[in-house]
Amino acid sequence: MTGNDIPKSHPRYHSLLKREKLVEGFKLGLVVPQGLIAHGRGEAFDYILGERSHDFALQAERVTAALFLLSKKPVISVNGNYAALAPEEIEALSRETGAPVEVNLFHRTEERVRRIYEFLLDHGVENILPPDCEKTRVPGLESKRGIVCRDGIASADFVLLAIEDGDRTEALVSWGKRVAAIDLNPFSRTAQKATVTIVDEAIRATRNIVEFVRELRGRSRDELSRLVEDYDNRRVLSMAFKAMLDRLSLAASKGVL
Ligand code: ATP
Repeated sequence: MTGNDIPKSHPRYHSLLKREKLVEGFKLGLVVPQGLIAHGRGEAFDYILGERSHDFALQAERVTAALFLLSKKPVISVNGNYAALAPEEIEALSRETGAPVEVNLFHRTEERVRRIYEFLLDHGVENILPPDCEKTRVPGLESKRGIVCRDGIASADFVLLAIEDGDRTEALVSWGKRVAAIDLNPFSRTAQKATVTIVDEAIRATRNIVEFVRELRGRSRDELSRLVEDYDNRRVLSMAFKAMLDRLSLAASKGVL
């Protein structure tokens, strides 16, 4: 089955389409098998959340937009899953914010970096660090997991990442970066360690951030800074857990969602 074969009337149309995008990404050498498994974990949380962007996600997405506008050097970190799922959304975000994209992989091979780079170029992403960028390492991350571009993530003051491993998120925060992380699992170390945790699905989240960038552009730096200062990530995480608890309680009491 391909994306074109899924009937739009299917109740799980959007979910099935995402699976097809990932399978396609896998065939193209963008996504690794571990990425397919990570997607399944995300899907389970999205199911519990009712596959929609809740208030706690919108709050985090709005602050992420403010951080894009305030930061000296924001960078969008893209891995195989994120590229396969949301190339158009990543292109729109990079264009709206002027932030460069860096392909940054946990299971890194230079071949896969090149494939993802070319895939994003084909989807119109113009502001993207080349695979042969000058490299350096994230302090505290040994092996290939720690490789980043000197002109990209290494010199960024703000990094947006999605569907990321907890170790790498933590290492970026310890390196002094502000990190916004899109992760449907509020239990994950990424969710717990990020400066801003966006408990939302990657495609929806990226679209929402683009909308908020458009809304907030033109606001004063003072106003944007206040938005960031007033933001409380612990509270947002609590709201995410509570939304899950509420939906599960309702289902538990009635036997239906
Ligand atoms: P951590 O290392 O942070 O504790 P983890 O072991 O779950 O978490 P990974 O296996 O790298 O880390 O998984 C990435 C995370 O991305 C998972 O927590 C999963 O819930 C989430 N995820 C998967 N697909 C999506 C998606 N489409 N949108 C948002 N989040 C997703």
